[in-house]
Amino acid sequence: MSAAPPTIRQLDRFRDDADSFIHDLDEEYYLHFAGLKETLDVEQVYERYEELTKLETAQSLAGAPTELWRFACEGFLGNLTREHQARVAKAETELEAAVDGDTIPYRMLRVAMSNEPERDRRQRLEETRVRLLDEHLNPVYLEAVQIDREAVRQLDSPNYYELYKRFGFRLDEIADECRELLDETEKLWEREGDKLFRARLGIGLDEARPWDVVRLFRAPELDQLYPNDQMLPALERTLGDLGIDLRGQENVHLDLDVRPSKSPRAFCAPIDVPGRVMLVIQPIGGKDDWEALFHEAGHTEHYAHTDGELLMEARRLGDMAVTEGWAMLMQHLVTDPAWLNRRLDVPRIEELAHDGAVSLLYFVRRYSAKLLYEIEFFQTEDVPAMRGRYAEILGDALKLPVNPESYLDDIDGSFYVTGYLRSWAFEAQLRDFLRSEFGSEWFAKRDAGDLLRELWSLGQGPTADELLRDVTGATLEMASIAERVREGL
Ligand SMILES: [Zn+2]
Repeated sequence: MSAAPPTIRQLDRFRDDADSFIHDLDEEYYLHFAGLKETLDVEQVYERYEELTKLETAQSLAGAPTELWRFACEGFLGNLTREHQARVAKAETELEAAVDGDTIPYRMLRVAMSNEPERDRRQRLEETRVRLLDEHLNPVYLEAVQIDREAVRQLDSPNYYELYKRFGFRLDEIADECRELLDETEKLWEREGDKLFRARLGIGLDEARPWDVVRLFRAPELDQLYPNDQMLPALERTLGDLGIDLRGQENVHLDLDVRPSKSPRAFCAPIDVPGRVMLVIQPIGGKDDWEALFHEAGHTEHYAHTDGELLMEARRLGDMAVTEGWAMLMQHLVTDPAWLNRRLDVPRIEELAHDGAVSLLYFVRRYSAKLLYEIEFFQTEDVPAMRGRYAEILGDALKLPVNPESYLDDIDGSFYVTGYLRSWAFEAQLRDFLRSEFGSEWFAKRDAGDLLRELWSLGQGPTADELLRDVTGATLEMASIAERVREGL
């Protein structure tokens, strides 16, 4: 490709089109998952913006700002396997499992497993789920993988991994840090994981199986500590302390209505950034629900405070570790001892904080292993061999058996895994800074709120690394997550 670099006018048109494309998609997702519209009509949206997802568009933007070029490449690739995504979604909604005479929808199997105290039945649920996955979904995933691989070569990259390195993703460097983190926290996870499995499920880490993991983190006994009727007031008061009047924000739309087909999980849909940001909740209560609400509120406030004058790529695109970092900062309050003391009059605060630390340790080890796996996956010619590698790499990190059948459906795409990993480091380091500046009750200080609002206004212009360096002078490091975990234990 030696096409002339795009003109300023072409770039501006691309920005405008991309902005309304994302707007239309987010609106469609909002309407469907808020239970306001039965069907999810993404198809028509893609048809309206056909131009954006063409190979020529992606090729012509090779000399444009990286975020625009990446968006065009992702649009091109995503569009080619859109049909596969739809087939997976359809199969997932239609498949049913027959377990012990009960019929359970495929998508409910994990929830059923997490709520099932009886271990043998959990095993039957998981075995059925994995069989359905391998039989009905993996063939579709595999087809999409082949299409993807050929398409990446049309973008002048030998593979997906090389393509993302060209987008500026520091995959090898982060992978090195992840290897170190895995090494450094191995004994810690063996000890703490074992303790938690024994306390909750009465089995050691060496006896734990995939069907025990979802149950381990479900912990229904903690739910009573996080009551439904206090969830939204706790969020409103927390934001209020930071100087944000949630109900008074004109660009934030709280959707609290109960609708039968509304998603049971809180989500944020930034339809216009910053003009119209939806925070959608169907409150159920319990620790998971509280964490999900605070997480999504973090995204919501970030987008709602983003400066509307910024270019599209700084409002909508950029480094996803930034918005995930803001979401994690809010989410982790729910298990922060100082916050619990102030906001929630509950016993067993130390236990809740300890629990939060062990669960962060599990997830950071799992995502570290996922990154190492994905880096291998996207370079190999031998995709079927990756089944075994998946179980090996993840099993090694988690110290328990992992289903090899998940080797395709456990890949998020766009190396989003680095977004989460880096967002945990961002949260750990920024929280340290906030505590040293404003004290352990930083979340109740108006000055801390002023700083957050200033940082949120930058949108995703700066990367998480740049933001952290500007504010604290520190380098974003995976090792900070291990320190954060140790502090909680
Ligand atoms: Zn998030």
